[in-house]
Amino acid sequence: METVQALRQKLLSIDGKGYGAYKGVQGGYNSGWFQIFIDHVQADPFAPPSRLRARVEHRFSGFPRELFVDRAGRVALQDFVARELYRQLKSQQPAERAGTGKSGVLSIDRCGQEILERTAILVTADFIEARFSLGLPARGRTVQGKEAAGLITGTIPGSLEKCLLYKNISKDDLKAHVDLVRDQEFLRGSLEERGLVAFVANGSILPRESGISDRPLKGKTVVPFLSPPDLEIEFTLPVRGRIAGMGVPRGVTLIVGGGYHGKSTLLRAIERGIYNHIAGDGREMVITDGSAVKIRSEDGRRVESVDIGPFINNLPFGQDTSSFCTENASGSTSQAANIMEAIECGTSLLLLDEDTSATNFMIRDGRMQRLVAKEYEPITPFIDRVRDLYSDLKISSILVVGGSGDYLKVADLVIKMQEYRASDATSEARAIIDSTPDFRVVESTGAMGRPSPRVPIPVRGGREDRVRIKARGLEQISFGGDEINLAYVDQLVDPSQTRALAQIIRYAYDCYVDGRRSLPEIVERVLQDIREGLDVVSPYARGSHPGDYALPRGQEIAAAFNRLRSLRVCAPGKK
Ligand code: ADP
Ligand code: MG
Repeated sequence: METVQALRQKLLSIDGKGYGAYKGVQGGYNSGWFQIFIDHVQADPFAPPSRLRARVEHRFSGFPRELFVDRAGRVALQDFVARELYRQLKSQQPAERAGTGKSGVLSIDRCGQEILERTAILVTADFIEARFSLGLPARGRTVQGKEAAGLITGTIPGSLEKCLLYKNISKDDLKAHVDLVRDQEFLRGSLEERGLVAFVANGSILPRESGISDRPLKGKTVVPFLSPPDLEIEFTLPVRGRIAGMGVPRGVTLIVGGGYHGKSTLLRAIERGIYNHIAGDGREMVITDGSAVKIRSEDGRRVESVDIGPFINNLPFGQDTSSFCTENASGSTSQAANIMEAIECGTSLLLLDEDTSATNFMIRDGRMQRLVAKEYEPITPFIDRVRDLYSDLKISSILVVGGSGDYLKVADLVIKMQEYRASDATSEARAIIDSTPDFRVVESTGAMGRPSPRVPIPVRGGREDRVRIKARGLEQISFGGDEINLAYVDQLVDPSQTRALAQIIRYAYDCYVDGRRSLPEIVERVLQDIREGLDVVSPYARGSHPGDYALPRGQEIAAAFNRLRSLRVCAPGKK
């Protein structure tokens, strides 16, 4: 490997030449305590910036092995350093642009409120590596070699020194970060043995700053969460020790209350409790079963051979619902498909909010049952399936229901929100059921079965290079001529997850979609490979820079597959 000193000479020697001369600096360079790799050189000053990696071996980085022996510790350490380096690089930006296009712009993937496994920082047994990008400086189309040398051999090593060497970072803050994630993982891992599907610690701050910000709401009006006494439960965490809060048991739980009293906010916090959150987020001790899936209606989505029979049958003109296909699902059929797909991929908790559900999917009341006979109503509403889901498939539900009292009858637990305070209204609800007449007839038609897993069909010629794959923001992936719309996949939280998803779909088609493996098997295989590192799905050469991916769950991988408009499956019953 050449030395960083030699790189400096190279950069100085191309000063004033055409931009293409930068191509010559691609490669790896050693500087003793760190190595720098220029993996990709941008074609011009306006193109996406060049991709670099910097690696520091642990004999120089000094990070104690204890911090990253386990997955939780490693992810926390990576996340901590990514945040530090993000701040550091940001502070390095000159107030005004030094050159043309993205000249001199240094950046690394940005972390949000969640602590996710990412490719921005990689910690292995041997080294820590940062993946970032740099706009190689130019004036017009002319190389600014001196500036480039200054950045690569001055500014960047300076930043690495501050963020990638244990001795220079705040040891207490790092330890607190690692401890927090270990406690969160411990808590999530303990839910099951305590018979719970979710836990909301006392003192949690659930509301967010605004509809477009994921930061906590601040100010005197914020009401911290406090568990109703009957539901209060204690955990002893490995680091933090004793912690108390509301335990949501398995079964069917309703969140009721007046409009604007905090129902959806509680559910949304629970929905995000599948992820670990940073200290100060307010939801760091809101922990949910990792397989939980938010279910909502999503009219307009495509559905590929999903058995929605448990919820919908007898469609007009005898359309098949055991292998239901549509290019344009309705509110209720899309919600049914979302549930059946979540079950196919393996979930033990469904989360539904009346705000984002189709009314006719949720309920058909006694009067409507009399007016429209069952044989002319294809929908078996969720109210008549929610108990079967639990008794037959052990799938719990948490539902926000402010509008329909009929639901009280199917609930094991009723949490009432009033002025953002939770109380246990279960006995009150039972008393009301006993003292009021019931007009409804239960419409459930037999036991809830598990859908047979569908088998995706390979695309002729593979999906690889011929297809242009691009993630756009959080919600869109374009896949060749195809669009995947993820706007209604509520538990996808980070654009870096979307970028990873785009590559995961391609990788899955290349490696595992063979016309025999089922969708859940394919997802499982991909996740197994990713356990070795998210880099495996990168389209770049091995060991090269994929620095802006974050790990999605299997449920979101399946959700992306299911929303691929060109997905074709051979379902058992498909004609
Ligand atoms: P609902 O679903 O019951 O209609 P929301 O959960 O949407 O109500 O909450 C209504 C408003 O109250 C939102 O603006 C939300 O940010 C705010 N809010 C929710 N919980 C709290 C709380 N604990 N403290 C202060 N404001 C809150
Ligand atoms: Mg609401």
